[in-house]
Amino acid sequence: MRTVYLNGEYLPENEAKVSIFDRGFLMADGVYEVTSVLEGKLVDFEGHAVRLERSLNELNMPHPITKEELLDVHRELVRLNDIDEGMVYLQITRGAPDDRDFVFPDPETTPCTVVLFTQNKPGLANSPAAKKGMKVISIDDQRWGRRDIKTVQLLYPSMGKMMAKAAGADDAWMVEDGHVTEGTSNNAYIVKGNTIITRQLSNDILHGITRVAVLRFAKEAQMQVEERLFTIEEAQDADEAFITSASTFVMPVVEIDGKAVGTGEPGSVAGRLREIYLEESIKAAV
Ligand code: PMP
Repeated sequence: MRTVYLNGEYLPENEAKVSIFDRGFLMADGVYEVTSVLEGKLVDFEGHAVRLERSLNELNMPHPITKEELLDVHRELVRLNDIDEGMVYLQITRGAPDDRDFVFPDPETTPCTVVLFTQNKPGLANSPAAKKGMKVISIDDQRWGRRDIKTVQLLYPSMGKMMAKAAGADDAWMVEDGHVTEGTSNNAYIVKGNTIITRQLSNDILHGITRVAVLRFAKEAQMQVEERLFTIEEAQDADEAFITSASTFVMPVVEIDGKAVGTGEPGSVAGRLREIYLEESIKAAV
């Protein structure tokens, strides 16, 4: 059984309970982060901690825990659960007031709910999917307008995953006004020659922590990076496609809406970036 963290306490997973009035449960009034663990260490912890602070600020939520404490809790959970490869999931909600109300509760009397738990994923770095590549379908992006805040409103991304599954694919790329925004839980990229193309940052997409690192490594490896809009048609005609996220690192996409991308096999740019990302991230992991 896992040991999890709830509001300052380390508990067996079946003893950690949250109120039915919690605003995370009633209103999706919460934010989250997922940090991966490789060789027992946290990958890109600083990036996740900074984005969490930003998400809390954007929603006028108090910061219930400092960055240093958060690092300690992450490390303690990794230690207690003996995680070598996997993830740490963190969620902070606006807490549980006495009753349901659209008005935000007073943070003085309603403290935030802070939950963290580990997910054990042996073989995360050596994933067979990275060798095979994944198939995606395109779906209309019906999420809300502040996708840059990492909120727990994951119903539409979850529906998108199910649509992909029903179509025999692994994930969906969302499209708005004719242009790809991102994957259901990852950022989307295409490759043309030596150029990597990915949508520019705005409120329309989540600012991926893995994205920052991968674009930096790409530039260091003398690849060109273009941050701009692209369509599904352009993606289908590209040499390669891939996604990034904290739990998939760099993962090749080999098919979009039934059409093979490039050779239909994982491409060399995605493969190289995955290798560089894993190597550099493990070196810098805390
Ligand atoms: N976009 C969305 C919608 C996501 O949910 C995620 C991962 N949670 C990402 C992009 C990738 O972000 P990161 O690299 O920080 O995991």
